[in-house]
Order: sequence, then C-alpha cells, then structure tokens
Amino acid sequence: MSVSKTTYIGAIDQGTTGTRFMVFDHSGEPVARAYREHRQIYPQPGWVEHDPEEIWQNTLAVVAEALSTSGIGAEQIAAIGVTNQRETTVVWDARSGRAICNAIVWQDRRTADRCSQLARDGWTERLRAKTGLPPDPYFSATKLEWLLRNVSGLRERAERGEALFGTIDAWLIWKMTGVHSTDATNASRTMLLNLHTLDWDEELLELFGVPRRMLPAVRSSCEVYGAFDLKRRPEGLAGAANEVPVAGVLGDQQAALFGQAGFAVGDTKNTYGTGSFLLRNTGDGPVASRHGLLTTVAYRLADRPACYALEGSVFITGAAVQWLRDGLKIISSAAESEALARSVQDTGGVYFVPAFAGLGAPHWNPYARGTVVGLTRGTTSAHLVRAALEAIAYQSRDVLEAMNADAPVSPDVDAALKVDGGAVKNDFLCQFQSDVLGVPVVRPTVGETTALGAAYAAGLAVGYWQSLEEIKGLWKADRTFQPQMDAEQREQLYSGWQDAVRCALSWARESGKQPRT
Ligand code: ADP
Repeated sequence: MSVSKTTYIGAIDQGTTGTRFMVFDHSGEPVARAYREHRQIYPQPGWVEHDPEEIWQNTLAVVAEALSTSGIGAEQIAAIGVTNQRETTVVWDARSGRAICNAIVWQDRRTADRCSQLARDGWTERLRAKTGLPPDPYFSATKLEWLLRNVSGLRERAERGEALFGTIDAWLIWKMTGVHSTDATNASRTMLLNLHTLDWDEELLELFGVPRRMLPAVRSSCEVYGAFDLKRRPEGLAGAANEVPVAGVLGDQQAALFGQAGFAVGDTKNTYGTGSFLLRNTGDGPVASRHGLLTTVAYRLADRPACYALEGSVFITGAAVQWLRDGLKIISSAAESEALARSVQDTGGVYFVPAFAGLGAPHWNPYARGTVVGLTRGTTSAHLVRAALEAIAYQSRDVLEAMNADAPVSPDVDAALKVDGGAVKNDFLCQFQSDVLGVPVVRPTVGETTALGAAYAAGLAVGYWQSLEEIKGLWKADRTFQPQMDAEQREQLYSGWQDAVRCALSWARESGKQPRT
C-alpha cells in the first residue's frame, strides 16, 4: 500500500470511565481526539455495570466528533485499532444485534463467593497453569457463568447460537463489522482461554457451563478483522461510503506496552492511573509466576507466535492522591501534590500504605486496609502528601521485585522502566520512582500510549507502518529520570516501607481476616 502523508490511523480507546477516539499521523503524533464518558451503574454494593448500547453510541459519537472537529475525512483513515477495558463481559443477540443485558464490569465482585468455592475445590493451580490467572471475580469466566445462570432463557439462546458473548473489544468489532472475533490479549483475560494453545479450553468451558457457540473466534492482535463503514456514525459526513479496515486489537494494558514499543524480552512499562499496571514482555512462552503476578498474552502479530507478558496490578496509586484531595481535602488538585511533596526534605519517617481495597500484586490480601505509620507531632500535610507519592513508587517496586524473581532480565537488556498514565506528569514521582528502583525511568512524549498501541497494531496490519523496528523508531522519550539516591539510603527507605506493609497485613490478620491464598 502506498503511504501518503494525508492518511492517518484511528484508535478507539474504550475505557472504564469513557470512550476516546484518537487519530495519529505517520510519525505517531496525535492529530485529533474526542472523548465521552458513560454511566457507571451500581445496582447493589459491589456490583458494577455498563450499558453496552451506550458505549456503542458513544463510540460512534467520538469518531464523528474527532473527524469533524479536525476536518479529517473518513477516507483519510487507513485503518482503525481498538483497545479496551479488559474482562468486562457483554452478551448480545446475534440477530437483533442488541445487548441482552448490562455488561458486568471487571470491578464487579458479585462472583466472589463462587471464586472462593473454586479455590476451596482445588482449582487454583489448574486455573493458573491453564490460563495464567487465579480464580478471582476480576476475570470474565465467572461473570459469564453468572449471566448464564441468572438471565432467563440465556443459556438456551446461547446453545442455539442466538446469544453471543464477548469482552468489549468483541462487542465493538461486532457492531462495526458484523464479525464475531476477539484478539488473544483480550481472550487471555477471560479465564476461559488456554494460554498454551490460544484456544478456548474445553475443560474450563465445561466447568463454567459456557456453550462454545457463543464464544468469539480468537484472532491475532494485528490483522484485518473486517470493515467499518464510517458513514454509520450518527451525523453522516459528506463524501463517498468509507469502509475502513478494523485491523488492530489489544486489551488496554497490553496496548500500553505496545504503544511504549515494548517489543523486546525484558521491556517493562508501568501505567500510573487510579491504580498501576506493570507489564514485562517475557517473549514467546508463558512464564508461570511464583510471586503473585498474572501471566498474560502481550500481543500476537498475524500468524507469528504469541508474545507473552507478566503483569502486576496495584489497586490504589493515583487514587490515594484523589483521596487526599477529595477525602482529606489537604490538596485542591492532584497536580498540587508535587509542590507540596517538594516543600519538605523527606516524609519525616511517615509511610502511607494506601490499601483501601486490600493489597493486590504481589501480596494479594483483600483484607488489608490503609495504614499510616510513623506519625509525630511534627508531621504536616506535606509529609503525608509526600508519603502518598512515595507509596506509588514503593508499590511499583514491590511488583518489580516479584517480576525480577519470576522473569529476571538479562544484564544486556535495557533495564529502564517506561512509564505512562495520568500521574507521570508528576516529575517528583518519576524521580522518586527512579531513585527507589535504582533504574532509569523514561517518560514518552505521547502520553496516550494505550490508543497509540492500538493505532500501531492497526497500522502494521495494513502496511501503513512496515515493521516493529519502524515503530520503535517512532517512539520518543520526553524525559529520562536517572537514579540519584545512593544504594544505602534506597534500601533503608524501602525496608521502612516493607515494615509498613507488614503493619497493614498484620492488622488484617489480627482482626481475624485471612489472606486469600
Ligand atoms: P485512569 O485512566 O485510571 O482514570 P489517569 O491515567 O487519567 O487514570 O490518571 C488519573 C490519576 O492520576 C488520578 O488518580 C490522579 O489522582 C492521578 N494524578 C493526576 N495528575 C497527578 C499528578 N500531577 N500527581 C500525582 N497524581 C496525579
């Protein structure tokens, strides 16, 4: 395909709070964008739902808005990539194309008892070995099982091939192209995919009572899935019908790794938002974690072997800063945290473990709770704010240590940590992260690495970009933070953090709560 400077790649980034459409040019620079939030539906405590039809309408709306405000014609879009919130479970009617019920969102805990039962029944190791995941409500399998048991008539319709299942990527692809497909990265979050065969696992389909007919085909992250007629958006654009290939599909965290050009074994990225997600490329075989991480598909390029990753999720990082703003009201904006943290030399011995929702990787203790240790009469709000920012970095070190134990990086690989997400605007945080890890921290120029990753995958699939090497060449560092702290101070600070985490965990134990596994 000939590349003209006037063609672009679009990326739909369907996230938990909203849907974004971005357009990138041939140098990987964003040239247009639009964003729309959707409703969060909380039918009961611990339940979280989205309306799939609303998400689809928002997708059409942001595509139309980005194109019309930028003046870019639909015929100038060479391909569209899709990236999305993972695990969220949608079922829809194959004939009418309508969602049958609300989507169950990844955060939804309604299947917690079922997951505890699976653990008691001895499934943990088998699930981990097959899917890389522990039994947890986070993943799609028990959500789909719940729908099949609780939505009247759904199982019969699914068995007749009339009801279809998909994560959000599959839902949008189906709406755009009429094709029922998902990519291997999204499929690897369902707890129904066998990581070794990259096909749905018969034993697990039986365990969760899922009819195979309702499942999408599992395809690569980088191929043409079908064509989307951009004229189907609400307000039609002038010009000819425009069938744009939908050609790149990646779950959001995998897309961020791809958007960070994390193509080499050992490449590691951390995304700092509400929580943090650290992924390391481990190459063409799944690495089993012995330290509380998830094994997942990083990407699969057309018919090449899949590339895998280890993933560690920290639930509360940027959200601790939000809590200082909205809960304690000691700052008026997240950005203000930086100046306040810098206004003191250190935290004065204060550590803040923001285990508001238990601790995720690598501790996996749902009963731990937020803990502040080391308070004195001299402690000020600046110390507490600094402690919250430092905690973001310490939690990432906890995950990185687990990752280094599971999948050590050979010394000839660049050990720098690539960072992205809303909180990396904070230079203090990036510098402290580098100090506490003792490795360089690199922030790219394009902050929307998730959308960029989906665009890269789509562009590769249609020959807009030729190779991973070409894409690597497009990736640009905005700033590199070099470690400045001496090793002794680093280890002293980190050991104080580990003591504070022990406090948070021992509180959980002493109040009679048991760690999950
Ligand atoms: P998400 O995608 O999870 O909604 P974002 O990537 O948009 O999150 O990042 C928002 C998070 O980053 C919020 O939790 C906010 O508190 C935090 N954040 C934003 N700016 C800063 C900053 N300058 N310093 C520290 N944290 C910040």
